[in-house]
Amino acid sequence: MVRPDRDRSRAFDARARVRGPSRRRERALNTGRVYDLVGHVIGLLSLARPRRARGVTQYVSDRGLAFLILKRRGYSAITFGHVIVSLAPLTERGWRHELAHVGQYDRLGLRFIPLYLWHYSRVGYARHPFEREAEAESLDSTM
Ligand SMILES: [Zn+2]
Repeated sequence: MVRPDRDRSRAFDARARVRGPSRRRERALNTGRVYDLVGHVIGLLSLARPRRARGVTQYVSDRGLAFLILKRRGYSAITFGHVIVSLAPLTERGWRHELAHVGQYDRLGLRFIPLYLWHYSRVGYARHPFEREAEAESLDSTM
């Protein structure tokens, strides 16, 4: 049995998903990757070993800078460019949340951190538009 409407929307979604990342890859210079350096410094000063997974570098640690930046402040993970530092291995939902931030860095480039801090100073964490987008994506298991 075929359900044309449903199949058409699936095909559309598949094309959108293919277009999104490939457009990012085609950019000559992804300035958001400049922040990778910050992530690597924090990861290494958290006494963690870098691991490659899902197209990013991940550091898992609850010591050193990860303790100061994350655990003491009640957060579980932070993303800089294509580097994710987390206190514990990420859940599937955690991956989707942090990878949404990776996509935001890809879209916004160097503007990510200033814009993040500007919104944070105005509305805090829970109402932060970048966090709301990442949360929405983390709940969407089709992403
Ligand atoms: Zn977040």
